[in-house]
Amino acid sequence: MILIWGTYAYRHPVAPTCCVACGAAASTCPIERVSHFMFVPLFPRRFDWVSKCPRCKHSERGARAREGEPVRAMSGRIIASWVLVVGAIISLVVGTHVAARGSAAHVSAAEVGDEWTIRPSRWPELYGELEFGRARVEEVDGDKIRAAACEETSDMEDAVERRCHSYSLPIEPRTRDELAHLYEEGAIVSVSSADDPMDPFEVLSGGLVIAAIVAGLFTRRSARRSFRDEPLAQARVV
Ligand SMILES: [Zn+2]
Repeated sequence: MILIWGTYAYRHPVAPTCCVACGAAASTCPIERVSHFMFVPLFPRRFDWVSKCPRCKHSERGARAREGEPVRAMSGRIIASWVLVVGAIISLVVGTHVAARGSAAHVSAAEVGDEWTIRPSRWPELYGELEFGRARVEEVDGDKIRAAACEETSDMEDAVERRCHSYSLPIEPRTRDELAHLYEEGAIVSVSSADDPMDPFEVLSGGLVIAAIVAGLFTRRSARRSFRDEPLAQARVV
């Protein structure tokens, strides 16, 4: 994913002023700036004032207002961004905790077809030079769960998840309590089954991030439109 930092410039309505060069009536407009990350406006920045005299064409750009700062127009958008971003982070953290607890229960409720990412070195009957392996539940007979392991091992968790399709190494049957214990010991790392629903917290978190980016794109559009009647000004001040 491309990471993009940048600045939005939003032009406030033009206010009357006097030209410092010739004293004629001129106009000035406050430019409000906001830093954005991935289009999401996050930090307010200083105002700039740009003024131009219609008579002598003297133009000036400065960081100070002669008559006070206008009310910021982007504050609401920044607050909305933070609400969405913090919401996404909280959702992800809560989801991770729930998933970890869910897996412990999931292991002892094993069903045929469940697949586990395992650490072969922590199973007495298995051997693996690399850290991660994969196993599948083959048979459930009352409290006895019989699984088989895949021959492939890897140091990458996602590599075994991708590569293991056949399970030819038998594993000693275990009871549900023994499996729960193996999970606590780290011998079983994670569980997945064919009918796993998508993690709702992950979905919510992703949705909030997308909402923040979409809202950010609207902010960008609104910032650009604020220069609509004077397109050259934007090129000069942004
Ligand atoms: Zn002037």
